[in-house]
Amino acid sequence: MKKLCRLKRQEIHTHVRMLAVEGRKPKFVCTLCGRVASDRRQLCDPLKIRSHKRKKK
Ligand SMILES: [Zn+2]
Repeated sequence: MKKLCRLKRQEIHTHVRMLAVEGRKPKFVCTLCGRVASDRRQLCDPLKIRSHKRKKK
């Protein structure tokens, strides 16, 4: 699968809808382009998203 960062907008839209249908939540965000994915391999510079329990300062 191509990396999301390299997808065209139309492809991204399709991909996002596919993720929504699957009921997945994105686990990673690309620090370069800000896109999200459930698979880090789809991003050029993935950073793991912490979805639960954030530390409060
Ligand atoms: Zn990227």
